[in-house]
Amino acid sequence: MTPLAKILLVDDRAENLFALEAILEPLGQELVRAESGEEALRRLLHDDYAAILLDVQMPRLDGFQTAELIKQRERTRHVPIIFLTAISKDAEHVFRGYESGAVDYITKPFDPGVLRAKVGVFIELWQKTVELQRHEELVRKQELAALGRESEERYRFLGDSIPQQVWTALPDGSLDYVNERVLTYFGRTFEQMIGWGWSELVHPDDLPRCVELWSESLRTGALYEYEFRLRRAADATYRWHLTRALPMRGEDGEIVQWFGTNTDIEERRVAEDRQQFLAEAGWVLGSSLDYERTLADVAQLVVPKIADWCAIDLVRDGALTRVAVAHVDPLKVALARELAERYPADIETGTGPAAVVRTREAELVPEITPDMLDATVDDLQREIVADLGLHSYLCVPLVARDQAFGAISFMHAESGRIYGEDDLALARELARHAAIAIDNAQLYEEAERRAQAARVLESVGDGVVLIDREGVIRLWNTAAAAIAGLSEAEVLGRRIADVIPRWDEIARLVPVANSPAEPVRAVTTPVEIQGRELWISGSGVALGEGIVYAFRDLTEEHLLEKMRTDFVATVSHELRTPLAAIYGSAQTILRPDLDLDDAVRDELLAVIAAESDRLADIVSDLLLSSHLDSGRLPVQIESCDAAELAAAVVESARTHLPDQVDVELDAARDLPLVAADPGQLRQVLANLVDNAIKYSPGGGAVSVKVEDGDGTVRFTVEDRGIGMPASELRRIFEKFYRLDPDMTRGIGGTGLGLYISRELVRRMAGTISVESKLGEGSTFAVELPVAQQPSEAKRPKAPASP
Ligand code: ADP
Repeated sequence: MTPLAKILLVDDRAENLFALEAILEPLGQELVRAESGEEALRRLLHDDYAAILLDVQMPRLDGFQTAELIKQRERTRHVPIIFLTAISKDAEHVFRGYESGAVDYITKPFDPGVLRAKVGVFIELWQKTVELQRHEELVRKQELAALGRESEERYRFLGDSIPQQVWTALPDGSLDYVNERVLTYFGRTFEQMIGWGWSELVHPDDLPRCVELWSESLRTGALYEYEFRLRRAADATYRWHLTRALPMRGEDGEIVQWFGTNTDIEERRVAEDRQQFLAEAGWVLGSSLDYERTLADVAQLVVPKIADWCAIDLVRDGALTRVAVAHVDPLKVALARELAERYPADIETGTGPAAVVRTREAELVPEITPDMLDATVDDLQREIVADLGLHSYLCVPLVARDQAFGAISFMHAESGRIYGEDDLALARELARHAAIAIDNAQLYEEAERRAQAARVLESVGDGVVLIDREGVIRLWNTAAAAIAGLSEAEVLGRRIADVIPRWDEIARLVPVANSPAEPVRAVTTPVEIQGRELWISGSGVALGEGIVYAFRDLTEEHLLEKMRTDFVATVSHELRTPLAAIYGSAQTILRPDLDLDDAVRDELLAVIAAESDRLADIVSDLLLSSHLDSGRLPVQIESCDAAELAAAVVESARTHLPDQVDVELDAARDLPLVAADPGQLRQVLANLVDNAIKYSPGGGAVSVKVEDGDGTVRFTVEDRGIGMPASELRRIFEKFYRLDPDMTRGIGGTGLGLYISRELVRRMAGTISVESKLGEGSTFAVELPVAQQPSEAKRPKAPASP
């Protein structure tokens, strides 16, 4: 319906306005009065007018001024103005009227019909314009609607044609649109997908978290982003997807819809998983040098990610040994082990891991067919294999430094998964890591073994020396250095012949085995090193790089041995001499043809008695030394009178003094009592005095002194006899040691006297020492502690007074 047009009537006189109203009434439109130019402008602010009838003569703002203002305003510029005037009829006024924008200039008195007709034209024009505007609006709306439809279609087309899964959801989270891609991917109809049907496609493990996050986004309006597995229709497998959804908001800010996409990121996830798996495996392999244990850990890691079961075999003594098995089903681990144990694979002929090790080529069997299992040895093996339910198989060799030393087998059984090239690449990578780790562990073990061997070599008591093919010393251990008195630095790199005199001769004597296992008997030979004679017992083993000699220093043992043989000779001699005397005397007495007078007979009997004593002494020395060795000799310390003891010893010695030898005693007065076993002290002093006499074959005085030491009592026995070289003084206290074992000087002895003396003194907490000069005589000194409680001591005699 056409709206009423508004006509603005402007005149300062009410009667004029009435007149105009009366004239225009019949047009049936809305007439609005304004009694001044200002009022007219005000009215024009609020409403839209079809025409303005404007009086020219008005106080303040006249008609022309009012018209000019109207024309200045954008909104009112086009409203037609008709001037009405009674007076301004002259041309100037009329011209001004048109100039100020009038469409007509009507002078009074005017024909009401003409005025009505003119206004009527403007009304019609206005109504046409309004009509047109309305129509335009309608058309625009229709056009917009069409455009909207078109864009929605385009948008759907877009949605359907992009390779991504696109969907929209209502504010409650239910799907209201999915694109074509979604339908084909999940093998569902549009109706099945709309609403909440999607939840059935989510992997059960991921569903709770997926729903939880979706609800949270719905509640907060935050971007929804989550990676989860969705089941693809084509192969009914779950594949990783990244889903993102953004809320779309209306003008009032409320969420009107969610716009979402799903992207299949399976490849990326798999690559990531593999990367992570390799990283984990690398970590496990690097965590310890116990590679058998780490391999077992790796097998555990493989299952179930990469395989339903995994077995690792290593080459040992030409055959494969299964070092690790892991299975998704723990019960089947035993089965898998049984299979490996019952049917050990021979690397030369075996199939599976054995063939992989032999050829160093990986083996991939995506699908195991029943006829492949025909290669089984017997029904039992076929049964075990069938029980294991092998489905897909992959085996890669473990290769380090061009050597295959094992294989990792991956098997799919219950999961029904199938191995492909990607898996092969992953397995190869894992095998590479594992091989490096095992190789490192073995190298480390080897290095450790060598280091250990080197340490052992350094700590053994035997000298170990490696002489290379050129006769140059390449190894010289600590013991070798100690024995030879030559440091490693002094000899390494030198020819052995330059270090050890007569080496060629020695080398001919020392037996050399061809392998460490070959038994050889070490040979003892004297070797002179830096002017010292050593008795060395050694043998060698020939190696690729030369000969290793092991030897020990038997110098001490050799000397001891020599001493023993000397002792036997000496003792035999010592025993034979008195025995010969006894035998001779007895024979003489018993001879019937000789009539011996009593004096001679007594003399012979005295010889028998004396020599028997000598025999008894030798035997008792031997017994005593054996008691000392076994620690069976008791010591009974008492407070003794040193001077008295010494006097008794001197007294006894004087009874059988050879010619030209004298024994003197010089005991200090006021000597403290000595803490000693009197019997044993007497024996020590007697030994020293006997030696002093014995080793003074040319005669001379033997002086025995007893002095007060500082807290000790000191006994010295000095002679002017044959003396000893300084180099021998250290050794004379050794058992059986004699300076002159062959008795070139005709002085007999067992070499036990000083040994016994030293042991007895030591047991009495004392010391024994010697000073001597060859050809000038010797002085032996014994110091024993002073007795603690002199008052309780037995003092048979009153102390001598000056
Ligand atoms: P032996 O029975 O040979 O005398 P000893 O043990 O008493 O054994 O002495 C060991 C060696 O010490 C003797 O063989 C001798 O060579 C030397 N010896 C001991 N006492 C003297 C001494 N007073 N003068 C010179 N040499 C001595």
